[in-house]
Amino acid sequence: MSELLREMDELPVSLLETGADGLHQVLGGPTPFHLSGRREPPLFVSVLMHGNETSGWDAIRRVLRAHLSDDGFDLPRSLSLFVGNTEAAERGVRHLPGQPDYNRVWPGSETGGTAEHALMRGVMERMADREIFASVDVHNNTGLNPHYACVNVLEHQSLHLASLFGRTVVYFVRPRGVASMAMAALGPSVTLECGKVGQAHGVDHAADYLQACLQLAEIPSHPVAPHDIDLYHTVAVVRVPPDYSIGFGDEAAAINFPVHLDTMNFRELPVGSLIAECSGGIAQPLDVRDEQDQAVAGRYLELEDGRLITRVPVMPSMLTCNPEVIRQDCLCYLMERYNDHLADAG
Ligand SMILES: [Zn+2]
Repeated sequence: MSELLREMDELPVSLLETGADGLHQVLGGPTPFHLSGRREPPLFVSVLMHGNETSGWDAIRRVLRAHLSDDGFDLPRSLSLFVGNTEAAERGVRHLPGQPDYNRVWPGSETGGTAEHALMRGVMERMADREIFASVDVHNNTGLNPHYACVNVLEHQSLHLASLFGRTVVYFVRPRGVASMAMAALGPSVTLECGKVGQAHGVDHAADYLQACLQLAEIPSHPVAPHDIDLYHTVAVVRVPPDYSIGFGDEAAAINFPVHLDTMNFRELPVGSLIAECSGGIAQPLDVRDEQDQAVAGRYLELEDGRLITRVPVMPSMLTCNPEVIRQDCLCYLMERYNDHLADAG
């Protein structure tokens, strides 16, 4: 067990009045809470893996408040709540400059050796001992995206858990080291993407969902009906090489994206769709990697007179107009429709 890990069997009621930016002062670091309820095993919920994505914390504290009784929490099922990067939350950032991304360091990660890797391994070992009913990791994103859930294995129970959040479901196996991928080894597991931070609808949706998960007696193990789900598969991640300047409707930038780039999320883009205008001398403006981390930009994109356009039909997700997010994480993911593979799920 990592020395970083301070576990709590109680959650002070006063914590429910504390915003994400105040948690670090109270908790001093990442903290798992194990709260008992009427059913076992616990629902595992992780929030604030990214410090600026606060909908998860706001949602779970609303759920807990609703179950507050005279003698503590009266929960329909036990809850293990992991509050993640409190230090980054205090500053309102994804992670601090010296920290790894908390959602890239879970077991299965391609990196290793930091205190945070040990921390996540510790959390996971603890949950392996307790067993889990299901695992839900709650996030926000920055561009215009629908709310959707992600799975990392094509397995009926995880797909049911995902489709309980909405009919849009994304299956991905990269990046590695994400919480939902690690926790999938212990039980049905999803990542929730609840839209932009600060939108009440994201907190409402996540709270309703977590409440429903706590009430569930079981998760169906039969296949999800194809008409109940729009399943997409992430086939590539798109990054901007650090040496090029970027802008949105800014002709001075080496790579000039359309102003409303993020309106293309979850839309099937026809061949020839404009992704960016590039200044002369740039041969390959974007780094596109497939699931095996192979460079495949030429498969999806081509440059025509300085205009970077799509050369096959693709559907992007997580396109963002936030330069900081593009630099810290990525520009977007490319997806394909995947409902045909529902029958292969195990
Ligand atoms: Zn996130």
